[in-house]
Amino acid sequence: MSTPREELTVEQRGFLHCQLQARDGKRCFYCHRHFKSNRPHRRKTLDHYVPHRIWPGWNVENLVLACAECNVAKGGALPWPLVWLLLAVYRPENWELTA
Ligand SMILES: [Zn+2]
Repeated sequence: MSTPREELTVEQRGFLHCQLQARDGKRCFYCHRHFKSNRPHRRKTLDHYVPHRIWPGWNVENLVLACAECNVAKGGALPWPLVWLLLAVYRPENWELTA
């Protein structure tokens, strides 16, 4: 069961957009294309890098700006770089079994 999303005010959303733009630039985090207000699929959206169902809330450390096209394509999936990192760190031979 997923955690319901806490809605943001227009001001909170604008503040997060400014913070993320200052950190990552005016480009989509995933495809690196500039946002274009006249192209709806290139409109900037807030995306949870680690899906909201795993890391709920609006923590700026887990947010990126993404174009609508990339945000929809990613959906609720874990990004591949994160999957590779988890597989590298949590190799089965490193697992400890506890009784
Ligand atoms: Zn994109």
